[in-house]
Amino acid sequence: MSVCYAGGMKEVNILNDQLTVSFKQDDVPFQIDGHTVERQCNMQYLAELDKIVPRYDALMSMACGAGCQYLAERFPDIPVYPAINTMFIGVDKEVGMFEERCRACGNCVLGLTGGICPVTRCAKSLFNGPCGGTNITSCEINKDVPCAWFDIYERLKAIGQLDNIKKIKPPMEWQNTTRGVFVQEGYEERFEKKEKKGILSRVH
Ligand code: SF4
Ligand code: SF4
Repeated sequence: MSVCYAGGMKEVNILNDQLTVSFKQDDVPFQIDGHTVERQCNMQYLAELDKIVPRYDALMSMACGAGCQYLAERFPDIPVYPAINTMFIGVDKEVGMFEERCRACGNCVLGLTGGICPVTRCAKSLFNGPCGGTNITSCEINKDVPCAWFDIYERLKAIGQLDNIKKIKPPMEWQNTTRGVFVQEGYEERFEKKEKKGILSRVH
C-alpha cells in the first residue's frame, strides 16, 4: 500500500536494504528483489506475479493481513511473511496520517448512529450515548477531540433519525476487536505498572 507509506516501491527498497545488511552481517547467501502491485487484496492484480514469484524461496508482504493471506493463497508452495503489523481500518486524514475508523467489531451499529462509529470515535467506545464527562461538543480526554456522541446526535438530527439515539444497543461482544488503550497522563504510572505485569498492552 504505497498510500500508507507502508508498502510502496520506496518502502520495499528500504526494507530490502535493511535485509541486505542483515544477511551480509550473518554471512547468509541471498538474492532479494522487490515488486509492487496495484492491490494485493484482489486476485486479478496478483496474476502479474505468477511468472516472477516461483523464482524465490520466500515472500515478504508489506500489505495488510488480508493482502498477505491472498498472496499465500495464490502461491501455496512458497512461505509468505508479513513485513508489517496491521493495526486498524482507517482513513487518510493528511498525507501519511491515518485515523482509525473501524475496529471490525463484528456488530456494526453505524445504521443506528448516523454512520459515526462509537467504537473508534468515542474514547470509551460507548454504545448508548455520551458519558458524564462530555464537554458537549468535545471529549473529556481533550478539548480538541470531538465528542463522538455529540457528533452522532447532530448527525441523527440532520438526517431526521434522532429517535435512533433512544434505541438501546445490546452489549458488545468485545472479544472480536483489537484492544485500543488510551492513557490519560494522570493514569500513566498506574498503567505502566499493569503493563509490566502483562495485564495491559499499549496500542498506538
Ligand atoms: S461499529 Fe464496529 S463494525 Fe461498525 S464501524 Fe464501528 S467498529 Fe466497525
Ligand atoms: S466525552 Fe464523548 S467521546 Fe469522550 S468518552 Fe465521553 S462520550 Fe465518548
